[in-house]
Amino acid sequence: MKNVTSSEIIICGHTYDEYIEMIKAFHGHVAPGMVIGGFMVDLAYHNLPQGEFFDAICETRACLPDAIQLLTPCTVGNGWLRIIDLGRFALSLYEKYTGDGVRVYVDSRKLDNWPEIKTFLFKLKPKKEQDSEALITEMNLACTSILGVQKVTINLNAIKSSRRDTFSVCPSCGEGYPKNDGETCLGCQGEAPYLHSEIPGLQED
Ligand SMILES: [Zn+2]
Repeated sequence: MKNVTSSEIIICGHTYDEYIEMIKAFHGHVAPGMVIGGFMVDLAYHNLPQGEFFDAICETRACLPDAIQLLTPCTVGNGWLRIIDLGRFALSLYEKYTGDGVRVYVDSRKLDNWPEIKTFLFKLKPKKEQDSEALITEMNLACTSILGVQKVTINLNAIKSSRRDTFSVCPSCGEGYPKNDGETCLGCQGEAPYLHSEIPGLQED
């Protein structure tokens, strides 16, 4: 076990305690996935290849995207963070023009000494039966020791989306939509999640 106290841990220029406060403010509560995510982003930054402009890929929707958005300039909204939901707790930062980058993942072979982290990541117990205090303590002690780092090159063509290049007005709902989606928008093709929606302009009695 490493002899590092939390006051010595720096996560992307923030002390550990500062980062915990940032998580609370951004995410609403101290999500364990964001704690481990902070170590992952910091480790990725320390292993970046040469380059100036870095984009991010996150391989899960759970918690990790928020750590990336909190600690890097990359957000889903500005398009510099893309979520490719492979269900793996991993992220990559890569140079946006060359695709050269670094991938950080949780190394499942290194989890045997960290039962709470293993239980959390593999959902071995229902959340309410997990000991969240012990889990955060383990994450603090484990730091980056449970993580792996790989050099990667991103297939930039594969992740480029040209879907939103041209827009039309949907003849069914009257809203703008990417023309490539078809004669009507995906919502009107049955992919909208609403069981009920008002027809605009009509008052319900
Ligand atoms: Zn429509």
